[in-house]
Amino acid sequence: MIEKMELLDVDKLIEEFESMTKDAGNVQRETLKKILDENGCAEYLQNLGLNGRTDPESFKACVPLVTHNDLQPYIQRIVDGSSSPILTGKPITTISLSSGTTQGKPKFVPFNDELMETTLQIYRTSYAFRTREFPIENGKALQLIYSSKQSKTKGGLIAGTATTNVFRNSQFKNTMKAMQSQCCSPDEVIFGPDFHQSLYCHLLCGLIFREEIQFISSTFSHSIVHAFRTFEQVWEELCADIREGVLTSRITFPSVRSAMAKLLKPNPELADLIHKKCLGLNNWYGLIPELFPNVKYIYGIMTGSMEPYLKKLRHYARDLPLISADYGSSEGWIGANVNPNVPPELATYVVLPNIGYFEFIPLKENVEEAKPVGLTEVKVGEEYEVIITSFAGLYRYRLGDVVKVTGFHNLSPELKFICRRNLMLTINIDKNTEKDLQLAVEAASKLNTEEKLEVLDFSSHVDLSTNPGHYVIFWEISGEVREEVLEECCNCLDRSFVDAGYVSSRKINAIGPLELRVVQRGTFQKILNHYVGLGAALSQFKTPRCVGSTNNEVLQILCNNVVKSYFSTAF
Ligand code: AMP
Repeated sequence: MIEKMELLDVDKLIEEFESMTKDAGNVQRETLKKILDENGCAEYLQNLGLNGRTDPESFKACVPLVTHNDLQPYIQRIVDGSSSPILTGKPITTISLSSGTTQGKPKFVPFNDELMETTLQIYRTSYAFRTREFPIENGKALQLIYSSKQSKTKGGLIAGTATTNVFRNSQFKNTMKAMQSQCCSPDEVIFGPDFHQSLYCHLLCGLIFREEIQFISSTFSHSIVHAFRTFEQVWEELCADIREGVLTSRITFPSVRSAMAKLLKPNPELADLIHKKCLGLNNWYGLIPELFPNVKYIYGIMTGSMEPYLKKLRHYARDLPLISADYGSSEGWIGANVNPNVPPELATYVVLPNIGYFEFIPLKENVEEAKPVGLTEVKVGEEYEVIITSFAGLYRYRLGDVVKVTGFHNLSPELKFICRRNLMLTINIDKNTEKDLQLAVEAASKLNTEEKLEVLDFSSHVDLSTNPGHYVIFWEISGEVREEVLEECCNCLDRSFVDAGYVSSRKINAIGPLELRVVQRGTFQKILNHYVGLGAALSQFKTPRCVGSTNNEVLQILCNNVVKSYFSTAF
């Protein structure tokens, strides 16, 4: 009875969302007022001469558009322990480390209770819509989540990745309970010091509770694919643990071992069943529904740089629905997926007008001159860069993401994530984004289907050490594949960049032939390990799709692991 009372009121949540999005313009004005009322005394805003004004017009006139670099000196003073109100009225006590895949190193952004609350609001909103379409029973979730260590900054602030700060917050657990989405693994596993060990234990917990698991999730879907690829390697060991009721010696941390010992009992029937199921699968197709018979869907961010993993995810999931999770960043949340029926390739995110103040730079015009427009002023079919003003001390902050407006939900826009702005392959007049690269890789990897070859992961680099410079695409592949096929893939990649600047430069050899470099198996795992070593969490990991020369360590990992290289003859 008590359990029931704690559950979220789905209809009420949907109703609140509907009425808020119907009044998006006013809610935005009120949200800006609230942010500025709470933080107007902060040094940053004081210096800009707002003098207590909270209307959007004054705000835009006084406050400049900024990037993380512009705010870095302010954030650094907070990190170093200054207790004066610098960016926010109330002092910031926690810092998030963004995944930093773009720059090669994590960046610091402020985190506070208001950001936590907006995180939970977005979780609840999309849950309400999801559960209306795909009801779940009171069971468990196999949540492939990992929390990196929280550390203390020089100035005594708590610092961790944004997901870590969220998972460690007591409200997270309560909300998961209210959403019937409790993680099947104990906290010691989520917060374990080594993600390889945590991953193994997550899988083991999933198998122990296989009948109760209602859905499988992660923050970014890369973690789900990564987990089941790992399952392919360790499944026999997992079965042995279940059979004997004894955890493998590869799990070495005492806290994790003792938490797992409470769950693990000898269960030869379950071990036999899993063993039989695994042997019965063809190339692991349909692995997830075989292992977890009551799973209703797979949930995690699947758009943007996660799209390349969809094929593998579908392979594991067979006909289970794949639902993309919401759109946000360490800096703040933006929109919720309220159309869970839509396949991830078409997923859009409706902006929640009360979780921040949003502006959009139209990308059709010259960006330096283009005037940002408000949330309700965007136009369907056009692309914009997102600007966020948050409750956590970021004002008119350029997030660096490109989105396309696909429609409106009441008066709030529906955004399709397109790509990161600064992930760009460019040598002279050519401009290719992360999305262009993704489409090229997709086209080229389709040539391989007969060969049973799979592109496990990919990245790119502009090599200017040759004259002329040329694009380099790195592929990690599985399976044996003939040289001729890879040569053809290389040509196909080169031809697939259809940007006029690229094609014309290639024709006159102002850009040299594209190079496909095949790297050893495990290379992208090394890159992941590198980022985790820097303090990133697996939960937030995104493979860097374009590695610049400044990201030397990752470039070295890629270059040191090349086994074969091909130059295009397409032009
Ligand atoms: P982080 O730096 O780890 O905070 O990651 C935030 C970034 O991840 C965003 O700025 C986006 O580029 C990307 N991202 C977050 N949510 C989504 C989503 N739903 N679809 C595509 N990309 C996303």
